[in-house]
Amino acid sequence: MTILQINNIETYYGGIQALRGISMDVKKGEIVTLIGSNGAGKSTTLKSISGLEKVKTGSIFYKEQEITNKPAHQTTLIGMAHVPEGRKIFATLTVKENLLMGAFSVSKKSVIEERMEMVFGLFPILKKRIDQKGGTMSGGEQQMLAIGRALMMKPDLLMLDEPSMGLAPIIVEQIFDIIRQLNQEGITILLVEQNAYQALSIAHRGYVIQNGEIVLSGKGTDLIENDEIREAYLA
Ligand code: ATP
Repeated sequence: MTILQINNIETYYGGIQALRGISMDVKKGEIVTLIGSNGAGKSTTLKSISGLEKVKTGSIFYKEQEITNKPAHQTTLIGMAHVPEGRKIFATLTVKENLLMGAFSVSKKSVIEERMEMVFGLFPILKKRIDQKGGTMSGGEQQMLAIGRALMMKPDLLMLDEPSMGLAPIIVEQIFDIIRQLNQEGITILLVEQNAYQALSIAHRGYVIQNGEIVLSGKGTDLIENDEIREAYLA
C-alpha cells in the first residue's frame, strides 16, 4: 500500500525554483532514501511534504488523503513526523520537556508516560540525561532527542533530514541501527541523506535528486552498484 504519493511538485523560494517537478512514492513498511548533493532540493522536498514550505504546483497524498499545502501541525496530527536538518531541539528545555513538547496533542498522562518509556527503551542515554538541558548535550544525543521527540506522536511515517550530519562514525552507526529498528517495528521511513552509501545500504529503495529533479531511482542495492552513483556520491 502506498502511504505517501508525491506528484510533480514544484516549490519556489521567491523567484528561485528549488523543486522542478518531483514525483516519488513511499510504500507502507519501506525505508526510502532521497540522496543528492548540497542544495539539490532534499530538505525542500521534506518541507514541502510536511507543510513547512508551500508547493506552487503538484499534489501530495498521505494515506490516500490529499495533504498538499496543509500546515505542519495538521500533517503531524495525521501521523507524519518530520525531524528537520540540524535537529532543532529546544536547547533551553530539558530532555523530558523536549519529549513532552513532542506529545503536545496527547492529553492522557498514562499514554505520554508509556511513549516516553518507549523512547527511553530505544535511547537509554536520554533517560540518564532526563533533566539535562537539550543544548548542553552532544550532537549524537541531540539527534537521538530529536528523533525521540518525533516518536512521541507515534508516527506511521518518519521523515528524517540528514540525521548523520556532523556526527562521529560510531554514532552514525548507532543512528542508522535505530532507523532500521524503528522500521522493523513498523514505522515507514523517508530518509534524506548526503551520506549516500549508508543511506542506500539500509534503504529498500532510493531516489537521486539533482537540481530539483529526480534523475534516478531504484532499489537501494542496485543504486549502490550503479556507476554514475558511485562516481558522483560514493567516491
Ligand atoms: P542541503 O543538504 O545543503 O540542505 P538540500 O538538498 O537539502 O541541500 P535545499 O536546502 O532543499 O537543498 O535547497 C534547494 C535549493 O533551494 C538550493 O538552491 C538552496 O539554495 C535554495 N534554498 C533553500 N532554502 C532557501 C531559502 N530559505 N531561501 C532561498 N533559497 C533557498
